[in-house]
Amino acid sequence: MPSTPKDETAAAHNEAMKRQQEEHRTKMREKKQADRGLLMVNTGDGKGKSTAGFGTVIRALGWGHRVGIVQFVKGAWKTGEKEFFNRYPDLVDMHVMGDGFTWDTQDRDKDIASAEKAWVQSREMMESGQYDFILLDELNIVLRYGYLDVGAVMAGLAARSDRTSVMVTGRNAPEALMAAADLVSEIQAVRHPFENGIKAKQGIDY
Ligand code: ATP
Ligand code: MG
Repeated sequence: MPSTPKDETAAAHNEAMKRQQEEHRTKMREKKQADRGLLMVNTGDGKGKSTAGFGTVIRALGWGHRVGIVQFVKGAWKTGEKEFFNRYPDLVDMHVMGDGFTWDTQDRDKDIASAEKAWVQSREMMESGQYDFILLDELNIVLRYGYLDVGAVMAGLAARSDRTSVMVTGRNAPEALMAAADLVSEIQAVRHPFENGIKAKQGIDY
């Protein structure tokens, strides 16, 4: 039977309703995801990855959120952030990788043990459900060196509490991490004072 104009109007209306319903469902799905903590990655060869991490720490603290920090590469030198949080120890739970990174001694086994210890700490914090935001500073570096298994780290990140947002920093983020993350920022180096022989500056670089 040939369709009448009335049938066509009804069909068009039906189509429009279906579209609206689909849009609404998409919105609801988005809303559900927005309630979950985010997985974020700051990578690239430009300066600002850790700085952005600490900026987000301040932003979260401003709202009274509970914040944890694990630093996977402990510098031998003092840093402004360590000095600051040492002065206000109640502000955040900060863990600097156990024995430090043994760049000088090239003791790979010791570095692996330190990375694993820091990772156990990170996992406990992520699974506890106690934290709104956790910064895993330079985790990408220990992954790059093969000190931690990428698959195991991905599983640990996925097993975190729903409420916890995590930001991972460091150059050379692994593909699997970038693929899984809600946010990936790659900071591109355009110019750095180091190229012009300017040494690292207190309060800017450390
Ligand atoms: P920052 O801690 O300053 O945000 P970052 O986390 O992006 O830097 P890292 O790879 O962790 O960078 O290196 C930290 C140190 O290396 C800092 O002193 C930083 O200024 C320096 N640095 C970062 N990018 C460059 C670059 N492209 N050339 C030279 N030095 C750099
Ligand atoms: Mg950094």
